[in-house]
Amino acid sequence: METVKKKDIRALTKEQLRDFFVSEGDKAFRGNQVYEWLWQKSAHSFEAMTNISKETRQMMEANFVINHIKVDQMQRSSDGTIKNAVRLHDDLVVESVLIPTKTRTTACVSSQVGCSLDCKFCATARLKRMRNLNPDEIYDQVVVIDNESRLYFDRPLSNIVFMGMGEPLMNYNNVLKAIEKITSPEGLGMSPKRITVSTSGVPKMIRKMADEEVKFKLAVSLHSAIDDIRTSIMPFNATFTLADLRESLQYWYNKTKSRITYEYVVWEGINDQQKDVDALVDFCKFAPSKVNLIEYNPIDDGEFRQASNSAIDRYVHTLERNGITVTVRRSRGKDIDAACGQLANKQ
Ligand code: SAH
Repeated sequence: METVKKKDIRALTKEQLRDFFVSEGDKAFRGNQVYEWLWQKSAHSFEAMTNISKETRQMMEANFVINHIKVDQMQRSSDGTIKNAVRLHDDLVVESVLIPTKTRTTACVSSQVGCSLDCKFCATARLKRMRNLNPDEIYDQVVVIDNESRLYFDRPLSNIVFMGMGEPLMNYNNVLKAIEKITSPEGLGMSPKRITVSTSGVPKMIRKMADEEVKFKLAVSLHSAIDDIRTSIMPFNATFTLADLRESLQYWYNKTKSRITYEYVVWEGINDQQKDVDALVDFCKFAPSKVNLIEYNPIDDGEFRQASNSAIDRYVHTLERNGITVTVRRSRGKDIDAACGQLANKQ
């Protein structure tokens, strides 16, 4: 006999769940109860839904599955950072990272298995894109890190950054659905202001986000404000040019009035000259901006090298002189390959 593939119950909306119970001769309210188990209480099995009758639980078991993620391996860095290797229902693996500071716990979550884009300096790009994550697979990563934060740091998760594997704006609908659940009182009830979506810069999607007046924050991985240079390290820039990116960001700012953060690595011989700094100043002065200078995490045999301290100082001084906020970020979790650009499923 052929077995029918059961549907993932978390692909249903609350309304669809309510309708399902009505069609089974039960009350719509049962849908609410199950929905609460699935999201707010993050149940891994129907069995765990203790206020639902055994018959109903068995009926659900016969119709659906709960494709909850499994943490295959958890690694802890000497600086407190935790990296989870997360196994999905089809056996693919993504990674997510918990980054603790004195006052905060930040979850760095993945949005795709592999990545759609081809940045030359990023380990994830070498995996190529295998598939998009579903909303529940993104949500689960956050729940796991929230639990780890409570367990190891005695406090709930405070911030989320979409800076793990993948390009979130190439999986926009699912990322948005996950954020809706994360921010909903029926999910985790977190404030959207504590969530940052980081993109390599997909102008069409930035405009769409602006039109939808999303409430989370936007970060753009810029790395160079000169087209030729950016294209050489981020080849998709040939299609999504800086002029187009800048126009979309201007549109975003006009609509949302939300400050834009730029992520930027300074590499020796690539973008470490005064002309590079000047181009950056020129690129971001149309709106209040912040530049995060991120430390380079080597992923290969030395094609890319972090620039000298004096080159980084030049960036800091020039940006500050032009009224642009700048921070220099130290990497976290390097010893367990958990830092920016190092997520590549090696253990
Ligand atoms: N695709 C999204 C989010 C994932 S990358 C984006 O591009 O924004 C998260 C950040 O790490 C990006 O700013 C990326 O440019 C940066 N990054 C990638 N590889 C890196 C490396 N080897 N060292 C330091 N930062 C890196």
